[in-house]
Amino acid sequence: MNKIEHIGIAVKDIHASNELFSKLLNTQPYKTEEVESEGVITSFFMIGETKIELLQATKPDSAIAKFIEKKGEGIHHIAFGVDNADFEIGRLQNEGFEMIHQHAKPGADNKMIAFAHPKCTNGVLTEVCSERP
Ligand code: ZN
Repeated sequence: MNKIEHIGIAVKDIHASNELFSKLLNTQPYKTEEVESEGVITSFFMIGETKIELLQATKPDSAIAKFIEKKGEGIHHIAFGVDNADFEIGRLQNEGFEMIHQHAKPGADNKMIAFAHPKCTNGVLTEVCSERP
């Protein structure tokens, strides 16, 4: 894994949180994007080489809605940047990690992404992401 690419934070109201994080981080989000397949709206802040991703649910049955219902707003996942997400999925499976996604799929911000199950990573929902070719 190359670096922490971003940290995902689950929020209830992305507009209010965009304002809050703009003040907190002293920078504006560089993009807001809906990922329909995931039922989320995301926004991204660049902090040095790392990003903060805010995620708001657009459907009551989306993973973010369920997360907030269970745990409230807060840190949702850590994403590691890798050269090739599909290769990394294979490596992690060989190491015994249970992947939520067996193949990388298109995510926000022009990435191919996959998640490892938090039950096999000490409760930390872990994403691997690489640039979309
Ligand atoms: Zn993410």
